[in-house]
Amino acid sequence: MISLSTPIEKIPRIGPVSLKKLKRLGIRTINDMLFHFPYRYEDFSNLIPISELKINEICTVFGKVTEIKNTKTWKKRMMLTHIILEDKTGAVKAVWFNHPYIIKMVEKGDSIFLSGKLTIGKQGIYFSNPSYEKANEISNLKHTARLVPVYPETAGLSSRWFRYILKPLINEFGDKIVETLPEKIIKENNLLSVKEALWQIHFPDSFESVKKAKERFSFEELFFIELYVLKERSKIAKEKAVSFPFNLKLIKSFITSLSFKLTDAQKKSAFQILKDLEKERPMNRLLEGDVGSGKTVVAVLAALIVSKAKYQTAFMAPTEILAKQHFHNVSRFLKDFNLNIGLLTGKQDQFFSKKLKNQVIEISRRKILEKAKEGEIDILIGTHALIQEKVKFGKLALVILDEQHRFGVKQRAKLVLKDNQKIPHLLSMTATPIPRTLALTIYGDLDLSIIDELPKGRKKVITEIVSPNERFKTYKFITKEVKKGRQVFVICPRIEAKNNEKSLNWAEVKAVKEEYEKLSKDIFKDLKVSMLHGKMALKEKEKVMIDFKNKKTDILVSTSVVEVGVDIPNATVMMIEGAERFGLAQLHQFRGRVGRAGYQSYCFLFTESPAIKTQQRLRALISCENGFALAERDLEIRGPGNFSGTRQWGIPDLMMNSLKDISLVEKTRELAKQILIEDPQLKKYPVLKIRVNKLEKKVHLE
Ligand code: ADP
Ligand code: MG
Repeated sequence: MISLSTPIEKIPRIGPVSLKKLKRLGIRTINDMLFHFPYRYEDFSNLIPISELKINEICTVFGKVTEIKNTKTWKKRMMLTHIILEDKTGAVKAVWFNHPYIIKMVEKGDSIFLSGKLTIGKQGIYFSNPSYEKANEISNLKHTARLVPVYPETAGLSSRWFRYILKPLINEFGDKIVETLPEKIIKENNLLSVKEALWQIHFPDSFESVKKAKERFSFEELFFIELYVLKERSKIAKEKAVSFPFNLKLIKSFITSLSFKLTDAQKKSAFQILKDLEKERPMNRLLEGDVGSGKTVVAVLAALIVSKAKYQTAFMAPTEILAKQHFHNVSRFLKDFNLNIGLLTGKQDQFFSKKLKNQVIEISRRKILEKAKEGEIDILIGTHALIQEKVKFGKLALVILDEQHRFGVKQRAKLVLKDNQKIPHLLSMTATPIPRTLALTIYGDLDLSIIDELPKGRKKVITEIVSPNERFKTYKFITKEVKKGRQVFVICPRIEAKNNEKSLNWAEVKAVKEEYEKLSKDIFKDLKVSMLHGKMALKEKEKVMIDFKNKKTDILVSTSVVEVGVDIPNATVMMIEGAERFGLAQLHQFRGRVGRAGYQSYCFLFTESPAIKTQQRLRALISCENGFALAERDLEIRGPGNFSGTRQWGIPDLMMNSLKDISLVEKTRELAKQILIEDPQLKKYPVLKIRVNKLEKKVHLE
């Protein structure tokens, strides 16, 4: 039997070519097809007599075809299809360019609708490429005389084709779509039913009903997300963890051992974390803080408390380079505390121990694993392979995640301490500033600590948009900075140049390899220039980074791989090519790579794009130094669909749009809470339960 989950191959009207294109769009089942939504609508609802047509107005006419023919243009050999349409009030011409098959669909004498804009051109006054539809479909119009849906046509499938397939499909399957929202919620919130919403989003009665349909789908998506995060939260709340008493003496001795004073925001976050560690239920906290705000030291304090109580910490970084950097920083921060700290990476495993007179030594992987199992390593640092590779920890009580956001209850359950069935506390850190609405939703299962100030004494990074004719002035400036002993990043959007893009003028995109050649051999031939990109071998990348860090090179030409976390305090210039290619949040991350020591630092944004939106976005970067405020701006200007990091959560664009609406976020959250209080296992709502479970799989990518 044919159902919603039936593969689209089974729909007879879809041929093999279209089938391939649909698959490229990720559409596999009838359900996928029904939920492929239009992104805008053409308003063809204004049906008028031919005599009332006006130039440049969009409208629809209805009449009889009195003439139809194909001709070829003399010069370009383009096929033109002409028809004359007549009603009681007059006649009008319509012309299609390169749609010769129309002549097979429409015959002389047919009654048809034409929708489009009347124009004046070489062919006189005529409809140019109008939408058309035969009158025998009058009860079932889809292309004319109404609001007509326009679909994203990325794979070369036309909107006309989608309408042709979709209308009968909704007719047939609309009834089979199961309502996912509880009846009561639909009524009380004045929402459309799923079936009605589906009709209205594809073939709406009015713009008002489009809005209502979108509202219904946004509501639904938000509601599921809220249910999911609240369920996750309650699951964690039921688990047990080791509690660590507030050790004021130890905390004080750590703080006084630092070479700097903690900022108030650092202190506040540290306090929240230490309070969590005191509890017997597992901490589940996200530490958000702008680049350079000093998250690491806060996390290290938590690890110290855990270590001194003879429990272990796993500290996971997104890349091996960063794991290594953390290893060295953590070892330095804790050098007076008599701890064993390990680094587990692909090849070079290292070990730091007070007993070894504060030295770092290399030991075998086997030995590190052994020591971890015996509880002899207090803090083990590595990539997420630490957990995935099933490193056995004897007494793991804290997991710190740098830039990985989330770690499901199930993943954590795998790390339970066998003797007491307790699960580790979790501290997740991110430099991606997430606006509150978003945080409340996608990170609603986590408690939030925010470090919203930078350490004192940091100079504001001077940010400038550089026009193409000032390029050489900037190169001169860079040379001067290097002569002063400073270092420079040059960021390019891609690794290699693409030939076909070269001709496109402003769209020409700078590539690392080319720029490296140009800068090292020509512009800065007296300086030491190096190159970094994602396609290089790990060893090579590390060498480049280490050489840069040790000031063996002056200028590093790189792709966005340097975006996350690398600490080069001596760097003062961040020069970004093709700045329009990056999101504001990402540009802000790049900028955070400089200005980390006391030197005045600079961020130069190169763009050859004249688009107003680009200029607007880049100017926001100049006027705003605060990552959170910038994230809000990015959300406003680019729309939430592009918001960094959200794509990977599988959050649909439609819902992303509704995230702007904080009152809707709050409302759905409240409703989700009520439902869970009444029925925590969602026993009375089997459909809801299925949807929430699906979401769980998506979010944790398990
Ligand atoms: P991020 O939050 O981006 O991870 P880091 O933890 O790497 O930032 O800290 C950036 C730099 O600032 C490090 O060199 C760190 O030692 C230093 N730092 C951290 N806190 C302070 C502070 N309160 N005062 C001065 N420097 C600090
Ligand atoms: Mg960091």
